[in-house]
Amino acid sequence: MRKKLAVIGAGTAGLIAAKRAAELGIDTTVYEQKQGKGAKINASGIVSLSGLNALGIDYGGAITNRLSGADIHAGGRVLSVRARGIIANVLDRMQLNEMCHDEAEASGVKINMGRRVGGAEIGEIARDSVVIGADGAVSSVARHFSMGHIRRHVLTYKQEFNVDIKDPEKVDLFFDNKLTQGLFGWTCPNSMDILEVGIGVDSGFSNSAKAMSAFLKKREIVEMIDGGKSIGGGASMIPMSLRDRISDNRGAMLVGDAAGQVKATTGGGIVFGGHGGRLAAEIAAEHLANGTTIYDYSRRYMARYGRDLHLHSMINEFYSRISADSLGRIITAAKFFGAENFLHKYGDMDRPSLMVKRFFLRALSD
Ligand SMILES: Cc1cc2nc3c(=O)[nH]c(=O)nc-3n(C[C@H](O)[C@H](O)[C@H](O)COP(=O)(O)OP(=O)(O)OC[C@H]3O[C@@H](n4cnc5c(N)ncnc54)[C@H](O)[C@@H]3O)c2cc1C
Repeated sequence: MRKKLAVIGAGTAGLIAAKRAAELGIDTTVYEQKQGKGAKINASGIVSLSGLNALGIDYGGAITNRLSGADIHAGGRVLSVRARGIIANVLDRMQLNEMCHDEAEASGVKINMGRRVGGAEIGEIARDSVVIGADGAVSSVARHFSMGHIRRHVLTYKQEFNVDIKDPEKVDLFFDNKLTQGLFGWTCPNSMDILEVGIGVDSGFSNSAKAMSAFLKKREIVEMIDGGKSIGGGASMIPMSLRDRISDNRGAMLVGDAAGQVKATTGGGIVFGGHGGRLAAEIAAEHLANGTTIYDYSRRYMARYGRDLHLHSMINEFYSRISADSLGRIITAAKFFGAENFLHKYGDMDRPSLMVKRFFLRALSD
């Protein structure tokens, strides 16, 4: 009979799951292979305000910048999307993890740092604990419970530069499927004087370091960096599709990147992975109290977020397949038909299904 919860991995998804579980009164232990909270993370931290506010974490201390819009570049054309106010925060990812760590501990979670768990040990832990696998895209928990594969990944490379930033409230996205097939290139002002430059490429398409060096030679990027000094960066990977299975009746659930809970449009996983963490904790609490089935996690997650993740995948598939020139022509047409105004009015970074719903409700009520 299981009585406890074990969370493998102390990234944001695992820590959000652990905190929620402890709030629900579950005896919760986290195992993390890295030493020291807030260890280095090679990822960005752009997160919508609405998405962050729904996760139940106090992220205020991790904010390094605030964003109100984006310039979308393709085939020499630019679509400028601006909101009336701030729509997203840029977070220091190490700081965010540190804060999630502290919040989980304050809720009563036991956290074992420097403790890698793998192979047979996962089976040992699963004898008396429900297991939440929050151990990233290459998940040992998924392997142990034979939960199948994540079918698509993009390889990323990002670098930060000391730059005097002209417009600190906007990100720039560059679509060019000859250079960055599968995702895009981006610049993001992480603060008033630190510009992040990054790219993502389909894992079957190119090497991310090679694509990055070509991206850094682009005229617009050279102008933005303006001779600024590089202050570090590195490569990483983003899962771009859901794993075949995310729950197993032997007592395991996957959350965050381990489950592939990522928006395929942008590679953003903090919000959808955090929701996965919260839901998995709630399902674990129900299972431990009443013996209800763990398998329900997959059904309930898909019922809430499946449609949006699917829409994100469809949009990603669309822009990954067409040339920068064709996308540029679509941008010109979209501008003509008022896309900037439409996105400004109905845009939602996380939930495209809500955007469509708002648009039709508004059209019906006009
Ligand atoms: C370049 C880049 C940019 C990104 N930009 C954004 C963005 O702007 N906004 C956004 O929302 N998302 C972004 N993402 C995605 C986001 O970073 C991830 O979706 C999110 O970090 C996933 O969190 P997680 O907790 O699931 O996994 P992770 O953060 O990968 O955490 C997994 C943890 O498990 C530990 N672990 C692994 N195996 C074991 C084991 N066997 N035993 C113990 N511990 C183990 C690891 O050490 C790690 O700490 C970006 C990603 C990349 C690569």
